[in-house]
Parts: sequence; structure tokens; C-alpha cells
Amino acid sequence: MTMIHMLDKWQGMDTYVEEIQASKIRTMLETETVEIRGDGKVETVVVKNKKTEATQELPMDLVSINIGFLMDTKAIRSWGLELEGNQIKVDNIMNTNIKGVLSCGDIATYPGKYKLLITACSEGAAAANTAYIYVKQPKKFTVGELYAAPKEEGDTQPKASESPA
Ligand SMILES: Cc1cc2nc3c(=O)[nH]c(=O)nc-3n(C[C@H](O)[C@H](O)[C@H](O)COP(=O)(O)OP(=O)(O)OC[C@H]3O[C@@H](n4cnc5c(N)ncnc54)[C@H](O)[C@@H]3O)c2cc1C
Repeated sequence: MTMIHMLDKWQGMDTYVEEIQASKIRTMLETETVEIRGDGKVETVVVKNKKTEATQELPMDLVSINIGFLMDTKAIRSWGLELEGNQIKVDNIMNTNIKGVLSCGDIATYPGKYKLLITACSEGAAAANTAYIYVKQPKKFTVGELYAAPKEEGDTQPKASESPA
């Protein structure tokens, strides 16, 4: 098995990287796959070293391509949402720049953002709470909001959140 990576260092968790390095898997950094050759099935893969531009043809039975994916933000750009790169800017309770439009999960961003399952779930809970308050305008704090929303002593209504930084 050969792992080919375009960058000059691995991006995985340290323990995984160490396990791979200690294994029999051959690794190639700063290397690009330029061609897959074969007659009806994979036989060889042509790779190019990005630094030296040198190419080599590696015998191969199977190719597994893990190159991520490209976000398509065409639609959200047309909605007038404020973006930072490919992500939607939100405040700490998931408000976007458009009142009543919330965002959470990987697509949302704020200072200190982590793209993780647990943060996406937590942001989902915050967004649901913010949506509830926006739609229902409850007279008193909801349980979730009691812990989440910006408030001062004596407040019975959530404060309007500041627009995303
Ligand atoms: C390789 C990899 C490994 C990861 N490992 C971990 C890990 O170990 N631990 C961890 O906590 N996190 C990990 N993550 C991050 C984690 O997967 C994400 O943070 C999490 O899935 C974000 O959830 P989400 O619901 O915001 O987005 P997603 O899970 O990406 O869900 C978005 C959904 O929306 C759908 N969608 C997109 N466009 C449209 C459209 N126009 N109409 C309808 N549906 C649409 C997509 O198909 C997708 O199903 C990993 C991510 C990757 C890529």
C-alpha cells in the first residue's frame, strides 16, 4: 500500500500518523497523482514529485481517491448572507447577518470555530433555541436560553444579539 499526499506534511491526528509511519505502508509526501494507467483495470499510477517535478510509474492494483470535496456556496451567496471564505458568519447564538436566518454546523463560522461533530451538535441546540425565541417571543427565558443567551440581572426577555463580527 502506498499513501500519496500533495502536501509536505500529514494532516491527520498525530497517533494515526505515527501508526502509519511505523507500519509497512509506503508514504509519499509532496506528491501528485497525474495518471492512472491500465487496460480495463488499474495497473499503474503515474506520480509526480511536486518539488523536483520527477515522475515515476508505480505498479498498482487499486486506487482509492480521498481528496475531500469542494463546497458549492453559489446559493448562499445569492441569499445575501455574510460569508467568511466558504462559511457563513454567525454570532454566539447562531444568528447570521439576516434577521431570523440561523446557521450552524460546518458551514457556520465564528472566532475559535472547531469543525467537529460535537460542536455542530451544540450549535444545533443553540440555533434551535434562538429560532424558538425568534418565532415564539416567549415572555420568560426558556430553559436553554437561561444558560445561553446574553442577559443581565432582572431581564425577562432575551437581549437582541449583536450582529456577527
Ligand atoms: C474525513 C473527515 C473526518 C472527520 N472526523 C471527525 C472526527 O473524528 N470527529 C469529529 O468530531 N468530527 C469529524 N469530522 C468533522 C465532522 O464530520 C463535521 O464537523 C460534521 O459532520 C458537521 O456536521 P454538519 O451537519 O454541519 O455537516 P455535514 O455532516 O457535512 O452535513 C451536511 C449535509 O448537507 C447535505 N447538503 C449539502 N448541500 C446540500 C443541498 N444543497 N441540499 C441538501 N442537502 C445538502 C450534505 O450532503 C450533508 O449530508 C470529520 C470530517 C471529515 C471530512
